[in-house]
Amino acid sequence: MAFLNSIRQLNSKVSLCLRKPSTFSRLLSTSRVNCGPLTTLSEDEVAIKDMVNRLCQDLIAPRVKEMDEKSKMDQVIIDALFANGLMGIDIDTKYGGTGASFFSTVLSIEELAKCDPSVSALMDIHNTLIVKIFTNYASEEQKQKYLPRLCKDTVGSFCISEPGSGSDAFALKTRAENKGDHFVINGGKSWISNAEHAGVFLVFANADFSKGYKGISCFILEPNMPGFSIAKPENKLGIRASSTCGITFEDVKVPAENLIGTLGHGYKYAIDSLNEGRIGIGAQMLGLAQGCFDYTVKYTLERKQFGKRIFDFQGMQHQIANVATQIEAARLLIYNAARLRESGANIVKEGAMAKYYASEVATITTSKCVEWMGGVGFTRDYPVEKYYRDCKIGCIYEGTTNIQFNTIAKSLETIYK
Ligand SMILES: Cc1cc2nc3c(=O)[nH]c(=O)nc-3n(C[C@H](O)[C@H](O)[C@H](O)COP(=O)(O)OP(=O)(O)OC[C@H]3O[C@@H](n4cnc5c(N)ncnc54)[C@H](O)[C@@H]3O)c2cc1C
Repeated sequence: MAFLNSIRQLNSKVSLCLRKPSTFSRLLSTSRVNCGPLTTLSEDEVAIKDMVNRLCQDLIAPRVKEMDEKSKMDQVIIDALFANGLMGIDIDTKYGGTGASFFSTVLSIEELAKCDPSVSALMDIHNTLIVKIFTNYASEEQKQKYLPRLCKDTVGSFCISEPGSGSDAFALKTRAENKGDHFVINGGKSWISNAEHAGVFLVFANADFSKGYKGISCFILEPNMPGFSIAKPENKLGIRASSTCGITFEDVKVPAENLIGTLGHGYKYAIDSLNEGRIGIGAQMLGLAQGCFDYTVKYTLERKQFGKRIFDFQGMQHQIANVATQIEAARLLIYNAARLRESGANIVKEGAMAKYYASEVATITTSKCVEWMGGVGFTRDYPVEKYYRDCKIGCIYEGTTNIQFNTIAKSLETIYK
């Protein structure tokens, strides 16, 4: 009971930082009028960042190691993400959301990843993919039914990948048979993040294979639908506390009103949400790199060899300066892509660049940090080896690095041809 009370106190304390949601939208609409430096945050962005930071220190940090070892997200953390408005940051207040900006979502993803990239992944996918598709493409009835739940207590999962279609996502084989007032879905999905905790699944299935990818539609499924089954979580290298499961659909009957948007437009919704989602993954990788760097540089200022702090060796300082510069460059790419997205600009190239670069920087940073810590960096007694394991996913999900290069090259071709 004492434990529960302290969580409640923490939540109410953290909640104090949050303004009333309606004030967010009012202030954010004017906050960037003068377009100052990308890293200058509005008053509200600072408030959200500070709130997430306190949530990390008080609630998440003490649980990170155990969650990684057990490959299990603590439900207390998921509850706190909901209680503090982080699962509906940019959902309109009329649906129960916080009513803040996409940039605030990106900042929160970054802050969470400094502490635990798994928690950041859960919150990122929920906000940048699931919520985004509901906000942009769902009917008013669907919004009224699902958005309040997604803000309050229901985690979402995004289901496109299959055993035979990863990078080539639109080669998916899951079939949706149109029966008029309902669809019957058969097939299976792989690698579905949040699956263990989710109550809403956005499933991409093809209702007309003769049209190729233009037959792909997006459906709302719930785990209690007969024929819907979730396999046990994958045993992964990193982000182990983030659940990743296969899903099977055997004659799952889905009411016609669960189709999102227009039949056959699912591929468009997937592309659009993944373009924005990539900024989120970039932010996750940025936070991860920063969290690992912050921990390690402090260590180099304390650890002594040859009678001096290891930070004092020029060989160390040059490497540290080099990595710090790359982290800052990644931050500018991500913040610029996020600000551009908010302004309504096309961010296909910028989102891909931000994700690609941030995942490279996270790889370099965490690898260097393990080296800079020496032998202890290689042990599980210190947090850097976990960052090193966690970073690898940044080059894989929501499009591998090669797929980002394909996207960037395609954009360049249209510019130069
Ligand atoms: C932890 C985790 C969580 C995930 N979460 C989700 C989720 O929530 N929802 C979801 O739908 N999916 C999810 N995924 C799936 C993820 O998006 C895919 O793993 C990813 O897109 C790569 O697909 P693949 O694994 O089939 O690799 P493949 O497509 O088989 O790629 C293998 C290699 O070939 C390269 N390659 C492939 N095609 C090309 C090309 N045209 N040009 C150059 N190189 C190429 C790739 O870059 C890669 O290096 C997740 C995956 C993991 C590991």
